[in-house]
Amino acid sequence: MIYISPNMLKTVFALFLLMLTVSPYSLASETPSAEAIKNKTVVIKSVQTPVTQVLPINPDLTELLVQLKPSTVDRHRVEGLLAKLTLSKAPLNAAEQYLLLVVQALVKEKLESTAIVNQDINKSNVVELLAQAEKLSGQIAEEQLVQPDFLQLHLILAAHFENQGNYESAYLEKKYYLKKYHIYRKNKRLAMIASLEKSFEMQDKKATNALLKSQNELKFRRVAEVKEEQAIQQYNFTLIIGTAIVFILLFFRQLRVRNKLIRLTLTDALTGVANRNALFESGNSMVKRFSDQPEELSVLLLDLDNFKNINDAYGHNVGDKVLMIVARLVKETMRSRDLFARLGGEEFVALLPYADIHKAKAIAMHINEKIAQFNFSLIMSQRQLTMSIGVATMNNKEMKFDELLHCADLAMYQAKEQGRNSVVCYQHIAESQERRADTNTAPLDSEWEF
Ligand code: GH3
Ligand code: MG
Ligand code: MG
Repeated sequence: MIYISPNMLKTVFALFLLMLTVSPYSLASETPSAEAIKNKTVVIKSVQTPVTQVLPINPDLTELLVQLKPSTVDRHRVEGLLAKLTLSKAPLNAAEQYLLLVVQALVKEKLESTAIVNQDINKSNVVELLAQAEKLSGQIAEEQLVQPDFLQLHLILAAHFENQGNYESAYLEKKYYLKKYHIYRKNKRLAMIASLEKSFEMQDKKATNALLKSQNELKFRRVAEVKEEQAIQQYNFTLIIGTAIVFILLFFRQLRVRNKLIRLTLTDALTGVANRNALFESGNSMVKRFSDQPEELSVLLLDLDNFKNINDAYGHNVGDKVLMIVARLVKETMRSRDLFARLGGEEFVALLPYADIHKAKAIAMHINEKIAQFNFSLIMSQRQLTMSIGVATMNNKEMKFDELLHCADLAMYQAKEQGRNSVVCYQHIAESQERRADTNTAPLDSEWEF
């Protein structure tokens, strides 16, 4: 009496249902109808062209194959997975049908080996099931057929034939399995190498890209640094140039101011002619220069006659205008080498280098005439003005400038004494004094006047 457990009944029922699912293929091959013959022609045709597309496999099928691998099978799990597959309404592709037949064969094998197999199941069913599976090979890509799950078919057959004592068939199946498995391993190795190469290539590319990127960044940073340096240099250069320009402008301004100040310190503010300082500066240097030369240097001291009366009669403003006009008129008579200065008040001095007493007298006479002939009616009702001029010539080479000026002053004083509007030479005074000392007689005014 053989005991059949409810679980075993469920397994057998599930197998029966699965066989029905595969049956259209198997039945079609056994009893071909007109339609099937037509379809077969198509199948044969399609077999001639090698299938390259790897078909998707239901994960439950893969799981079933895993579950059936160990020597002791978890029957509950196998049954559950089988039931799930059976109830699934999704159509199975050729590869899935192939694997399902392998699963069925394995279930038969395993159940049988555990001695709880249904005795009704014919042992030859394993071969039949696997023969059906092999018929589907033409619809499955070679690449997929060499995968271990698919190759199990030959292992099952080998084991089966071995159990039956058909060692030759078992050997052939095992040999075929090993051949295909070798191809699978080889393909896998090649795929792994290709994938590794690809990944190395990718890594290499990534590294090259990273290197290029960092080089670019470095270049950009360097360019930015150079630009920054250039900008700083430009800024510094502009700053230096700007500062230099400011300094140059300030220097020239300072020079102008200084020159103006020097000019002012040497110029009479009212008349614009040289002032007392300039007169003494030039006078001293000229006297020093002429003390070594045979040529003579003469000095004129000019004083306006009764100028105080003009101030009193017409006011200081008019007096100033008179002084300005007189200065201009005298300046016009000066040679380029001469120096004309205002000594102070209404007194002026003319330094006449390379002029002997005769030349100096001539110049003084000319000035006197010019002033006397000038018409002042434009600024005051008094039309005429006169001057008294003292002339002194440097005949003694030991003479100092102030001594020379003093001589001219004495001569001018003499001109005033004589009644103004005249030119008196100091030499004449000196000569007259000498003569007087010799003859012991009083001098006549006309004696000194030139
Ligand atoms: P003399 O013929 O003896 O030289 O008589 P004078 O009046 O010309 O001489 P005095 O020395 O008596 O008077 C000079 C006057 O000149 C007195 C002063 O008020 C005037 N004076 C001096 N400096 C200036 C000036 O810059 N402007 C004006 N308007 N008057 C001046
Ligand atoms: Mg005077
Ligand atoms: Mg005077």
